[in-house]
Amino acid sequence: MLAPAVAKAAAQAPGLDEHGLPKTVFLPPPVPLSGTGPVIGIDLGTTNSCVALLSNGRPLVLRSREGYNTIPSVISLNAQNKLLVSHRAKNQLVLRPQHTIYGAKRLVGRPYDSAVVNQVRERFHYDIVPDSAGRAAVRLADTALSLEEVQALILRECKEMAEAHLNQKVERAVVTVPAYYSEPQREAVRKSGILAGLKVERILNEPTSAALAYGLNRELNKKVLVYDLGGGTFDATILKIEKNVFEVLGTGGDVFLGGIDFDNLIVDYLLARFQEKEGITFTGDGIALSRVSDAAERAKMGLSERSTFEVHIPMLMMDDSGRPRDLRVVLSRQELEKICEPLLSRTIDVVRDVLLDAKLKAAEVDDIILVGGMSRMPLVRDKLKSLFGKGAQASVNADEAVALGAALYSGSVDKVSSVVLIDVLPMTVGVAMPGGAFKRVIERNSPLPAQRSFAINTTKDNEAFLELSIFQGEDSHISANEYLGTVRIEGLPKGPKGSVRVAVTLKLDSECVLHVEAREYSTRKEVKATLATRYSPEELQKQLQVSKESVKAAEERRGADLKERAGGFWSFVKKALGRK
Ligand code: AMP
Repeated sequence: MLAPAVAKAAAQAPGLDEHGLPKTVFLPPPVPLSGTGPVIGIDLGTTNSCVALLSNGRPLVLRSREGYNTIPSVISLNAQNKLLVSHRAKNQLVLRPQHTIYGAKRLVGRPYDSAVVNQVRERFHYDIVPDSAGRAAVRLADTALSLEEVQALILRECKEMAEAHLNQKVERAVVTVPAYYSEPQREAVRKSGILAGLKVERILNEPTSAALAYGLNRELNKKVLVYDLGGGTFDATILKIEKNVFEVLGTGGDVFLGGIDFDNLIVDYLLARFQEKEGITFTGDGIALSRVSDAAERAKMGLSERSTFEVHIPMLMMDDSGRPRDLRVVLSRQELEKICEPLLSRTIDVVRDVLLDAKLKAAEVDDIILVGGMSRMPLVRDKLKSLFGKGAQASVNADEAVALGAALYSGSVDKVSSVVLIDVLPMTVGVAMPGGAFKRVIERNSPLPAQRSFAINTTKDNEAFLELSIFQGEDSHISANEYLGTVRIEGLPKGPKGSVRVAVTLKLDSECVLHVEAREYSTRKEVKATLATRYSPEELQKQLQVSKESVKAAEERRGADLKERAGGFWSFVKKALGRK
């Protein structure tokens, strides 16, 4: 049975309109877009977003109303039920954590019932609920909102900043996404754009965008590493830049490794010191915990500039006798580095793997580009220096590079351009076999566009159609991978079982969008193949005759992997908050 809060929201879960777009709550229904006018570049980040555009041929980062170069990717409902976006919304994070949506980028385009969503649900203060199609949505007060709408509200803020700057309507954008984003996640970004009144002209991978900001029109001939450690995720990408050709040689990352994980470890440490000093265990509520998280983040950022930082939280909680207790700890950079060392070592392990994928030695990488707020931590630079024997490029602004690259690329949307981007497939795409085994079709790190063909037969006499379920991921079993949809192949000629053969081709275009084609062997005629069906996990398991044991084993493999990544902090928090 669903918990009451979830049941209530699920009853009014966001559905889709006749165009397949999520129905909106705060935004007006989308209107047709003209497809003309200026194109802006948007870095739609997990923690912060940044908007840039070309001004006299040079990329320019726009300032928010409050005067900042980036805006928090946060929306919130205040006590008067007024919707707030960006800076004003972030201010609500400590006061109204349950009514403040952050980190939507991690959830968008994911099934509600997926390992990632389950994991995130435990860590976030707001409710995550299923929409009518079984994908993750969020609950704000009594309303269920699609994640596309949450992202659209942030995109709309970016659009309005550009309109205020240009003094004209803006309806087109180049939007960046993490290199590892799957197909449905990219599709969700396009939908968010439409809801915000923006046609997404091109989806650009973040590391490629950062490399564009660094190397476009500079006549370079270099191999570069883009090390991107942001608020929620980490990725490392090696690109070859040859004049204006940007080719990804290898990419890898961790969707559960970002600033928030560092903050959590610091919270752990601060609360242990509090216990040591005050002789009592922290039993504060969610708001008290948010205050500690906030202080931990400030200490972490402060220690990038200086060697010590005093954390003082007055009246953090009341003790048994009703006496208020403060948290007061002086944290040194050395202590912080010791706390953060295991997480940073994990980023270095990923970098080593990417070097292997790219078939390069560390010494063959010419330049290092740092992206993401967390890369400001001095220990990041130290670790990279000891691996590569050289320092990172100082000319690249870690917060703005991705948006600047998108703005530069926006200049080539309407004209034939000399810029060539060659990306790679972030995760293997393959098909489900009877029993649930995953057959790999296009391997991860294949250069895009990519295509592979394979043959399938009918298994019944006069079979009118065949179905093929497509997944993306690296596990040998489909249950631990992401379901992209089921292709239905129709219009087959009649014949005894096994006699009708179909050549199926999976094609990924340069923006990683999946297309499927099917050709019947004997007539060589193309037959209809549409990737429109989505089955529930139960339906799929029944159709493919997947045993419960193999699903359990795959889920355990994945669950153990995610748990290991999350660290021990959340079990501590749940204990502190008295939750199971
Ligand atoms: P991003 O997603 O790129 O905006 O990165 C946000 C993350 O960077 C958050 O976890 C911030 O706490 C962290 N961050 C921002 N500035 C600094 C800094 N100077 N030192 C360490 N971490 C920082």
